[in-house]
Amino acid sequence: MARYIFVTGGVVSSLGKGLSSASLAYLLQSRGFKVRIRKLDPYLNVDPGTMSPFQHGEVFVTDDGAETDLDLGHYERFSGISAKKSDNITTGQIYSDVLKKERRGKYLGKTVQVIPHVTDRIKEFIKNDIKNEDFVICEIGGTVGDIESLPFVEAIRQFSNDIGKKNTLFIHLTLVPYMRASDEIKTKPTQHSVKELRSIGIQPDIIICRCERNIPLDQRKKISLFCNVDIKNVIQTIDVKTIYEAPISFNNENLDKQVLNYFKIKSKKNVNLTPWKKITKVVLNPKKYVNIAIIGKYVNLKDAYKSLDEALVHGGIHNNLKVNLIRIESDNLKPLDIKNKLNNVSGILIPGGFGKRGTEGKIEAIKYARKNKIPFLGICYGMQMAIIEFARNVLKINKASSTELDLKCIPVIGLIHEWKKNGKIIKGTDKDLGGTMRLGSYDAELVNNSLIRNIYKSRLIKERHRHRYEVNINYKSQFEKKGLIFSGNSPDKKLPEIIELKNHPWFIGVQFHPEFKSRPLAPHPLFSSFIKAAKNHKK
Ligand code: GLN
Repeated sequence: MARYIFVTGGVVSSLGKGLSSASLAYLLQSRGFKVRIRKLDPYLNVDPGTMSPFQHGEVFVTDDGAETDLDLGHYERFSGISAKKSDNITTGQIYSDVLKKERRGKYLGKTVQVIPHVTDRIKEFIKNDIKNEDFVICEIGGTVGDIESLPFVEAIRQFSNDIGKKNTLFIHLTLVPYMRASDEIKTKPTQHSVKELRSIGIQPDIIICRCERNIPLDQRKKISLFCNVDIKNVIQTIDVKTIYEAPISFNNENLDKQVLNYFKIKSKKNVNLTPWKKITKVVLNPKKYVNIAIIGKYVNLKDAYKSLDEALVHGGIHNNLKVNLIRIESDNLKPLDIKNKLNNVSGILIPGGFGKRGTEGKIEAIKYARKNKIPFLGICYGMQMAIIEFARNVLKINKASSTELDLKCIPVIGLIHEWKKNGKIIKGTDKDLGGTMRLGSYDAELVNNSLIRNIYKSRLIKERHRHRYEVNINYKSQFEKKGLIFSGNSPDKKLPEIIELKNHPWFIGVQFHPEFKSRPLAPHPLFSSFIKAAKNHKK
């Protein structure tokens, strides 16, 4: 039977619950156990798919087509386990399910209430789709004390009762601030947070204390005493220099050991930290670097392109160098500053995006990359912009654009009405925006003798998608005559998946999002190749 580990957060948000859960997952896996990680999000959106990156950072996409919280990206990158639709739930989804059931009369005339109906649905989610896992780690979003997260905390309290306390472990992550003025480490916020948690029925078994510096034994004793937790289970986590150090640091602090002790389980194997040590070394002591420009609408927001930033770093690790990300706001990119702003970069990347704002700046930058033979990677919207740029400036179709931007244009990019998945036809729409895009993993066939085929070293690939518009196949031969080839296509040949330029050292556009599948211990070949091309690019 699976053991459940619930991770809550206290005092403030952004303490790194996601990274702590993901690191613990790695450590337990490395000790020979099968692990799943899940996220319970208290907000009311059914999923984060319709949220602006300004609100909630990147939307992460799973193989099975769920639009999820970006923490699932951390989980995948650290644990190597591909997340599923069944690994992320929100209050919106829970209520939507409960209300649908109520409309169908499934509650047999009862008054539908938060307890037990909403909490029951949360408990169903926690148990759902678990087979032979040894551990299920569930992170509760938000901070203890929020009104929104109350039903989740109540549900995990009940859950622990249902399956037995010895099968559930509560980890609470809190802030232990250091006060510079008095040169003191303060435990009071942690005490208060644990008091809050206990008032809603949960006694934490392990407290992870986030602190800027070492927490002295006296302060640990105080936390242990006031929070009623074994001193060995007061675990500190000091800010790491790179996130890749996190599994090493948690192991040094015995987090994984204490988790196994709690459940009275023996480790099956020794933990292997060598891969993390290796990449930490490369990241912290780079010998060389490359500058890569990311041109997008949300570049000033730290988490908006989380997986992409990570994938570029992974590409750097593979090439033994540091990638400096130069973030350029596409809105302000006027033709006259292009040269100035892109003068010292060795690679240009246009990420995914939506809507008209900033597109002209992106198109100008692509023209610059094409003409000056600078390595270029266009992802999803970036590939669509590269098609528009080529159509306008090489094919001389002046009114070429996407129907997403201009309904009266010559549509080299258009709304796709249907596509095939596992032999079934799926219909697209732009009326209902939630979950109606072409989402999740789809196959692409790569053309012989193309650059992309050489990079993937395979004829058939699977990559994750998240888009509503597609390259218009009717212009294929016009593009190919002028040297822009469609080097990857859907198996039915209707949807161009990859484009590349013949007379350019490295110019690739992909309709999918390769960044979602890159992992620090297994960098994605497309990013490794892009960074290698940037390294070889002579400025
Ligand atoms: N807006 C474009 C579309 O829907 C691209 C989306 C993206 O870049 N993820 O097709």
